[in-house]
Amino acid sequence: MLTRDIEQLMLPKHRSEQITSLIQESNETYIPQRALKAPDGIPIRVGMAGGLPNNSITSDLVSGCLSAKQACYGTCFAAKAFWGQGIDFGVRVENTLNKSLVEQDIDKLPTTQRYIRNGWNSDPSWNWEKGLELTRIVRDKGLLMIFISKAFRAIDESLMKGFVENKAEMRISLSGLDNNAQLKKRLEFILSYRDAGGVAIPVIMSACYNDEEMNKRQEFLVDWVLKNDFPAAENSLRFPIDAPVTSLIDLQKTQFIKDSNDVWSGRLFSDRLLFPTTTSMPDDYDGLSSGYASQIDKSQLKALFVDPVKTHDQVMSNPDGFVPPQKSGVPEYRT
Ligand code: SF4
Repeated sequence: MLTRDIEQLMLPKHRSEQITSLIQESNETYIPQRALKAPDGIPIRVGMAGGLPNNSITSDLVSGCLSAKQACYGTCFAAKAFWGQGIDFGVRVENTLNKSLVEQDIDKLPTTQRYIRNGWNSDPSWNWEKGLELTRIVRDKGLLMIFISKAFRAIDESLMKGFVENKAEMRISLSGLDNNAQLKKRLEFILSYRDAGGVAIPVIMSACYNDEEMNKRQEFLVDWVLKNDFPAAENSLRFPIDAPVTSLIDLQKTQFIKDSNDVWSGRLFSDRLLFPTTTSMPDDYDGLSSGYASQIDKSQLKALFVDPVKTHDQVMSNPDGFVPPQKSGVPEYRT
């Protein structure tokens, strides 16, 4: 249950409306004038044997995700790639799950690959039911299933039980740019998943805002996940320098990402948000021992930061720019 203290996370209406418009304006710059076609549903595959860019990912449960009004932060790489290919990212089409095809792909993974993640160019919450089917296949093969989600849809009790029994790890992204309803839903999700016995890892999508209200909201979010003893991670949002939403960012506290038009600040809370993002982790990661940070032995955590998002200090000390982790922000090309 959420307590009254989250009132401090609630943005006033005018601020929320401003963020929504900036997100929409940013997204619209990526949408071509020509007519867009709906995405094709595709078979769900796993790893490089399934034609994916690396062995840690699966295809999404649905193709497509959100419209220009909602696609996350006005910066989603998956949305940009779909629109750039003339595909309507706002139309969701179910992908097909063929058990034997998924099993064959898993059998071809290197034995060092101990986890796979879902939530690559869409969000698993659009079809949690299919997500549980996938989890059962993956768990039967002895691997850890990780979902990267913004929890647009809650899970009912029986689905929740299935995910927990199969030890699915839920990584839920939280941002100061989330609207009040989204944030509440996401916090409720991580609390209820952990209450049911599962491991939920909040991932703070951080940024340096040029406004005290936004920075305070982000700080409060970090305080909240730590106060509630979650094993929390941090990723640094990347903003195209010319996107309308970037007007919310303190550019003095950013650097360009190497060879790109995007700026970022790096991890701002690296001394407090101690757990790795999935794209940082070694292939043999096989899950946390508890959903409570205080019950986890932290001595092994350093070994999980194989290809980490750079910290803020590192980013600011290198005007030539860093590249992000190799496995992050890889778009899906259909054509
Ligand atoms: S949920 Fe993920 S894929 Fe969908 S718009 Fe947001 S960032 Fe992009």
